Amino acid sequence: MMIKTETNSRAAVTVRRTDGTVETVETKHIWITDALFGRMATATKAAGRGELLSYTNPEVEAEELRCHRCNTAVDESAYSQTEQMWFGGGPVKATTHYCAPCARTLKAMGEMQERAR
Ligand SMILES: [Zn+2]
Repeated sequence: MMIKTETNSRAAVTVRRTDGTVETVETKHIWITDALFGRMATATKAAGRGELLSYTNPEVEAEELRCHRCNTAVDESAYSQTEQMWFGGGPVKATTHYCAPCARTLKAMGEMQERAR
C-alpha cells in the first residue's frame, strides 16, 4: 500500500487547453494510474477544459511498494486492487499491491466466496 504522509508531492497531468496551450497541472492525487488517468481525461474533456495528454507520478522509493499481505517487495506491474481503508479518520481509496503467490491466494479465496453464494 502506498500512502505518503510526509510529502507535498502530487501527481501532475499535462493538458492541452481548448485554446491550444499546453500546461502541466498538479492534481489532488498522490498517485495516478492508467485507469484513473482515463477517467480524468474523460471528465476533463466532458467539462470542456481540454485534453489530457500525459501524467507523471512523484518519484517514490522502490521499497515503498510491497505486497499488502506478506510485505514482499513488488514492482508497479504487480497485481493490485483498490480498496477502501480508514486513514486519518476517514475512508480513503488506497491501491494495494500483491506479490504473485498472494495474488493467486486472493483469487482462489474470491472464487471460493463466489461458489459459497
Ligand atoms: Zn505477498
